[in-house]
Amino acid sequence: MPTISRRGFLATAISGAAVARCRSINVQSRTRLILLGTGGGPRPRKASSASAQVIVTNDAAYVIDCGDGVARQLVLAGVPLTMIRHIFITHQHSDHNADYGNLMWLAWAAGLSTRVDTWGPPPLEKMTTLFFEMNAYDIDTRISNEGRVSVVPLVHVHEIRDNGAVMSDSNVKVTAALVDHPPVVPAFGYRFDAHDRSIVISGDTAPSDTLVKLARGADVLVHSVMYPPAIDRLVGRVPNAAALKQSILAHQTSAEDAGRIAEAAGVKTLVLSHFVPADDSQVTDQMWTDAAQSRFRGKVVLGKDLLEI
Ligand SMILES: [Zn+2]
Repeated sequence: MPTISRRGFLATAISGAAVARCRSINVQSRTRLILLGTGGGPRPRKASSASAQVIVTNDAAYVIDCGDGVARQLVLAGVPLTMIRHIFITHQHSDHNADYGNLMWLAWAAGLSTRVDTWGPPPLEKMTTLFFEMNAYDIDTRISNEGRVSVVPLVHVHEIRDNGAVMSDSNVKVTAALVDHPPVVPAFGYRFDAHDRSIVISGDTAPSDTLVKLARGADVLVHSVMYPPAIDRLVGRVPNAAALKQSILAHQTSAEDAGRIAEAAGVKTLVLSHFVPADDSQVTDQMWTDAAQSRFRGKVVLGKDLLEI
């Protein structure tokens, strides 16, 4: 009878453990966060795409906000559009929702044939209905001509109006908090608790206590940021918006305050995103990071399109 050497035994045991580990990874894969668009404001820019993030876990994609170009950003990030399972809108501003309908429509054209739940403030229901109505010609043509399942029954809309639990499934538990974005009401931040990490997306907000509570102890906080000394230059580049400066100052958070909020919430990592202004060469990466880091003892990450955290 052959005897197994100690080295052979160890090799067998180790490869057995590796297989077991792989199996457990398949059951609960690492929860990935990818920034899809990090620029603040709806004006299309060369430097960065409009606001959007995706959390991917166990082959399901949870998209948070749908700024201009979100479908293409997902493709560039290597996330198949057919993986989209849930879409969350933080608030009804065009830099966060311009491609909400387009994302579902184009994902369907790319082969999506499974249920998608969408979550966000009113009038999400009306926006969804009108979007599909507006595009009925193409949708009907593709159903009859290409043999696709109908897209409308795949989409289940849920309007949310208040703080609290939003949804949960085997991958994540999602909680919403009302944030401070006058006059866009309600506006939400979302927290995603997965088996291995917790991720909070602030949406757009002035410094917000409810967001601090939502983010308490989270691993990652993605917070929108502005650089106040540069707002005058930004406003000078945007015609036809006489009250833009007051609006920005009323509903955004400086990078320094984002650091304060991250410190108060006790998060491990603060990710700066939704930069306002997004393309001012006088505000360097170092200036954004230094402003936030001056108030926060944890790790600061400067958000970039397609960066995975
Ligand atoms: Zn906004």
